[in-house]
Amino acid sequence: MSIWDVDRAIDAIAGTMITKFYPSAIAKMTGLPLADSFERLLKLVEDGRVNLELEVTCPNCFHTVRTVREKKDLSTDELECERCGEVFAVSEEYLIPVFRVSPDYRDDVKKNHVHRLTPLSLRLTHHLTR
Ligand SMILES: [Zn+2]
Repeated sequence: MSIWDVDRAIDAIAGTMITKFYPSAIAKMTGLPLADSFERLLKLVEDGRVNLELEVTCPNCFHTVRTVREKKDLSTDELECERCGEVFAVSEEYLIPVFRVSPDYRDDVKKNHVHRLTPLSLRLTHHLTR
């Protein structure tokens, strides 16, 4: 287990159709503590590999009422849940961080994955690892 397992988990996710994931999923995938996984994910945000968003969840039914890039993007301090009708004041406790692989990094991972599968690169890898 190392913090770079988080990077490998992101690469694995980038090769799939998964569009968003929670820090807890990365903690489960890597076996790292949630705080360590989250800290590494924030580094990957700085690096441009993943994007961080905030989901506002309804305190009554846990429906995702809104997704924003930053807290200041919430123009109103009261929201209404379209699923259950609950009206609530937005507060820290209803904000859940969610991550997405950035489109650029996803493209890069896919490109390199295809590259690795060409016969030439397979042969090269074979020679280099003997
Ligand atoms: Zn609701």
